[in-house]
Amino acid sequence: MVIVMAPDATADNIDALVELVTSSGGEAYVTRGVSRTIIGLVGDVERFQDLGLSAKPGVGDVLRISAPYKLVSRENHDSRTVVSVRGVPIGGEHMTVIAGPCAVETPEQTLAAAHMAKAAGAALLRGGAYKPRTSPYAFQGLGEQGLKILSDVRAETGMPIVTEVVDAADVDLVASYADMLQIGTRNMQNFALLQAAGDAGKPVLLKRGMSATIEEWLMAAEYIAQRGNLDIVLCERGIRTFEKATRNTLDISAVPVAQNLTHLPVIVDPSHSGGKRDLVLPLSRAAIAIGADGIIVDVHPNPETALCDGPQALVEEDLGVLRDVAGTLATLSGRTLTPAPARELADV
Ligand code: PEP
Ligand code: MN
Repeated sequence: MVIVMAPDATADNIDALVELVTSSGGEAYVTRGVSRTIIGLVGDVERFQDLGLSAKPGVGDVLRISAPYKLVSRENHDSRTVVSVRGVPIGGEHMTVIAGPCAVETPEQTLAAAHMAKAAGAALLRGGAYKPRTSPYAFQGLGEQGLKILSDVRAETGMPIVTEVVDAADVDLVASYADMLQIGTRNMQNFALLQAAGDAGKPVLLKRGMSATIEEWLMAAEYIAQRGNLDIVLCERGIRTFEKATRNTLDISAVPVAQNLTHLPVIVDPSHSGGKRDLVLPLSRAAIAIGADGIIVDVHPNPETALCDGPQALVEEDLGVLRDVAGTLATLSGRTLTPAPARELADV
């Protein structure tokens, strides 16, 4: 059982609940998040039910959920969550495209990629300043300099930025620039990073681990939610299978499966799953048709010289096609393609 405290709950309210639960023989684990405090209860659920917890001062919600992931479960959660990334919605009626370069390389390349992203129908700009690379000799990203470039490009284009954080120690710095923190496939079970991202006060894009089950993915999301941050978007980005023809195998069925299990939005990365430019449009079609809440796509003005993942980046002539595909299929799936924001950005 989980108690979600109201945002205005006081320390006395929380202490009183802990006292009540422990004196009835249970254990209470308090997590103080930025906007909400969560109390996880361990013990006899029937006995907790007799305590009248939902009527106690400061209590927002009391959840009795059988799934191991309590806060992100769809059980007892009628409405689907819409995550707002600096005013840009993901989830619900919306179908949102995120696009940009795999890595931030230069100001010119990032700005050009942002214009490409807009032309492809994107409302949010992606781009990595910290790159988790398989080889220690590969380009690791520009670090804070890359974050500054992203923030300049945001000012120029009005597109909020989604960027990866690879280390818990960098979360505050990355969050001071980013509108959404991305946690990559290799870090899906980096629990300290998940908790730090949950504390950062920014929405989180959580990619599925390449060898993770859907349940493990949702448990990873629970680590973020448990810190009081429910602004989480899940991203299916392909899993490891025996197949070598694609970089990863896009588990398209993960989209409806996850949407049945959680109220969080679920998007698809057709670039890192297919790993090849000519697969990105077909996989995008599949993702939107199956009801994904969005897609995140690599674009690059000059893929031959890209420092990371050039072969999977869309180029100029693909952009109009992607925009048409996204708009048309979103409408057919009963969604509306989220427009790019005006240049004036919503306050954070
Ligand atoms: C990325 O989006 O740049 C990335 C590294 O993705 P993934 O974690 O899915 O490999
Ligand atoms: Mn990449």
